[in-house]
Amino acid sequence: MTHFALGARIGVLTTEPVGLLDYLAPEGGVRLGQLVVVPLGPRRVMGCVWGAGEGGFDAAKLRPVARLIEAEPLTPAVLEFLSRAAEYTLTSLPVLLRMATRAPGLADPPAPRRILHLTGPEPQRMTEARRRVLDVLDEHGDAGLEPGELARLAGVSPSVVAGLTTAGTLTETEAPRDAAFPRLDPSRPGKPLSPDQAAAAEALRARQPEGYSTTLLRGVTGSGKTEVYLEAVAECLARGRQALVMLPEIALSAEFLARVEARFGARPGEWHSGITATERRRLWHMAGRHGVDLVVGARSALFLPFRDLGLIVVDEEHDGAYKQEDGVWYSARDMAVLRASIEGAQVVLASATPALETWVNAQTGKYHRLDLTDRHGADLPEMAAIDLRAEAMEPGRWISPTLTREVAERLGRGEQSLLFLNRRGYAPVTLCRACGQQVGCEDCDARMVEHRVLNRLVCHQCGASRPIPTTCPACGVEGKMAPVGPGVERLAEEVSARWPQARVAVLSSDLFQSARALKAAIADIAAGGADIIIGTQMVAKGHNFPALTLVGVIDADLGLQGADLRAAERSFQLMRQVAGRAGRAGGKGLALLQTHQPEHPVIRAILSGEEEAFWDAEAAARRQAGMPPFGRLAGVILSHPDLGVVTGFARDLAQRAQPLGAAGAELWGPAPAPIARIRGRHRVRMLIRAPRQAPLQEAIRAWLEGVKLPANLRLAVDIDPQSFL
Ligand code: ADP
Ligand code: ZN
Repeated sequence: MTHFALGARIGVLTTEPVGLLDYLAPEGGVRLGQLVVVPLGPRRVMGCVWGAGEGGFDAAKLRPVARLIEAEPLTPAVLEFLSRAAEYTLTSLPVLLRMATRAPGLADPPAPRRILHLTGPEPQRMTEARRRVLDVLDEHGDAGLEPGELARLAGVSPSVVAGLTTAGTLTETEAPRDAAFPRLDPSRPGKPLSPDQAAAAEALRARQPEGYSTTLLRGVTGSGKTEVYLEAVAECLARGRQALVMLPEIALSAEFLARVEARFGARPGEWHSGITATERRRLWHMAGRHGVDLVVGARSALFLPFRDLGLIVVDEEHDGAYKQEDGVWYSARDMAVLRASIEGAQVVLASATPALETWVNAQTGKYHRLDLTDRHGADLPEMAAIDLRAEAMEPGRWISPTLTREVAERLGRGEQSLLFLNRRGYAPVTLCRACGQQVGCEDCDARMVEHRVLNRLVCHQCGASRPIPTTCPACGVEGKMAPVGPGVERLAEEVSARWPQARVAVLSSDLFQSARALKAAIADIAAGGADIIIGTQMVAKGHNFPALTLVGVIDADLGLQGADLRAAERSFQLMRQVAGRAGRAGGKGLALLQTHQPEHPVIRAILSGEEEAFWDAEAAARRQAGMPPFGRLAGVILSHPDLGVVTGFARDLAQRAQPLGAAGAELWGPAPAPIARIRGRHRVRMLIRAPRQAPLQEAIRAWLEGVKLPANLRLAVDIDPQSFL
C-alpha cells in the first residue's frame, strides 16, 4: 500500500466541485485512499488521498491535511472503480466520491456518540408527539437511536426527545464502537440440489478462481436461481472474500434474509433506505474492514467500500429499479460488471426474463449463460388470454365474467387469487362530465390521480396533492366531477362489492407508511391472511405466496402501446413475472390475461412460452434499427422554469454538435420531453445514437466542454437510457 511520509506532496480528491488539490501529508504520513479533512479556503472539507501531488503549485503555499478520518482507506480497486464510473456516466469524480462515502457523520470530529434507549415507564403526560417517539423506538429500538435521528424519524422537534429523557422514559448511553457482523458459515450444507441446479452451482463455483467473469443465470421464477447463487456465495465466502447480493426492492426481502440465515447461520448486512443511520454507519465501516461477509442491498450498495469483493449477484437483473435517474445517472447492473472486472470478482445476473442487452451479451459469448429448466417442485402456471371483446363487461367494472368465475372457484377452495393492475390510486383520470376537462397538475404536464384513501388528487410526477374537487376548476359546474378508469383502490372496491366475505389485501407502494409495515403485510399474506390480493408491479417481485394459484392480469394491454423502445420487452417481463407468482408451492397455477388484442406478438409470446423466439425477434428489430445493444444511445435532458430559455439553449447546443458528428454519432432533437413539465420546469430532450464502437462519452465531453449554462438551467446526460420520458 502506497504511503506518503510527513510533508510529502499529495493529491487529495475533495467532495467539492473543485476536485483534486495538492496538500502536504500530515504527521505520521498518510496512505493512498485514506479519507481526510482538508482546509479549503476558510472551510474544512472531506477528501480522499488520491495519489502523489501534481506539482505546479508553489510548495511553500501548500497547506497540510487537517486530520485523518477514522476509517479504513479506500482500496486502489475502489478508487479505480470511482474514476471509471465517473468517466462512463460523465459524472464528475467528486460527486461519485460523495456517493461512496455516504456514512452518517463520517467527517465529524471523533466524539463519543450518544444514543437513546427506551428504559423507563411512559411519561405521566403523554402527547401525540411523545407517542410517536416511543413508536419509532419500538420499531427500531434494539440498538437505540441517536437523538437527532430519533427526532427526525418521529417528525418531532429535538425538545420533545429531550423532554422524554428528562422525564426518565429514555436513557442516554454512549454508543459502543461499531462491531463486526457475525461471521457467516459457508461450510454448512445447502439444500440438496436437483441435477441441473447442481450443475449450475458447480459451474459458478468453478469460475471463481478465474477472477472476473459474468454469468447470466436464467430460469423461470421458482426454478431455484436463489438456491444456486447462494452456492456461489458459499464458495466466495469459503475463499475468504466478501459477497454482495443486490435486490431491486430491498424493503421486501424479509424472506430472503431468513433464507440466508437458514443457509449460513447468521444474518447478512443490509443496505437500503429503510435502515437507520446507526446501522448504515456500522455497515459502511464494516464493508471497509472486512467486518461483514455478505451484504444484501439496493443499488447504492454497489458503492460501498468493500475491502475484498469476490462476488456480486444482481437478482432480477432486468428490473428498472437498478437504473438511477437523478444525481448520478447510472445502471447498477452495468456498474456491477465494471466493478467486478476491476476487483477480479464474479458477477451473477439472475432473471427469469433478462434484459435484452444481457440476453445478447450471453448470446455473443461476452457473458456465460446457465439455464435452469425445471421449476422446483411445481409446474409453470397454465396461461391463457381472456378476450375482452368477447366478454360481457359491466360498465365501470374491470373484472370480466370469466375471471370472476375463476376467482370464485379459488375462494371456494380456500386458495388465493392475485389481481394485477399496474396503476396506483383510485382512478387515473378525474374528469368533469359537464365540460370534459381533466384535472391536471399545476406544475407538471401530468394528470392528477385520485387517491381515495387519502381523499386527495395526487400528481405522480411531483407528489403535489389537493382535495378532490366537487366543483370543476375549469367550468365551475358543481357535482359533475367523475373518476375515469381503474386504479388498484377502485379495483379493491369492485372486489369487495362482489365478494363481501373475502379478505382483500392491496399491495401498492403508496399504501404503506414504512418498509416494516409493508414487510408485515407481505408476511401476513404469505401466511394465508388474505383471499384476494390486489397489487401493482411491486407484487411481480420475488415474494412467495404458497396458497396463490390464480393470477389475473386486469389490463394486459397497458404498456403494449407507447413509443418507448423497451415497451414490448418490459411488458413481456412484467407479465411473465406476475404469471410466475401462481402455483409456486406445488398447486397447479393459472394465469389469465385480460386483453383487447390477444393476437399481439407480445401477448402471444407470453402465452406460448416461446421466449427465445420473442428475444430473437426483438433483437432482430433492434439490430435493424441500430438500437442498443447493437448501437449506443445517450439522452440529454435539459430543464428550466422558462420555456424560451430552455428551447433557445437546446437549439444553440444542437447547432454546435460537430464533435458528435465527428465520432459518427447522430443527434436527434431537441424536442419537448414526453413529460414536458415537472415541478414547474419545462423539459427538453435530445437523443444521441452512435455505432457500437464509437467513443460516445469522449464525443459528448468534447461537445459540452466549456459550455456555459444559463442560470438555473439543468443539464443531465443519461448514458444507456432506460426511460425516454
Ligand atoms: P428462484 O430464485 O428461481 O425464484 P428459488 O431459489 O427461490 O427460485 O426457489 C423457489 C422455491 O423452491 C424456494 O422456496 C426454494 O427454497 C425451493 N427450492 C428450490 N430448489 C430447491 C431444492 N433443491 N431443494 C429444496 N427446495 C428448493
Ligand atoms: Zn405535479
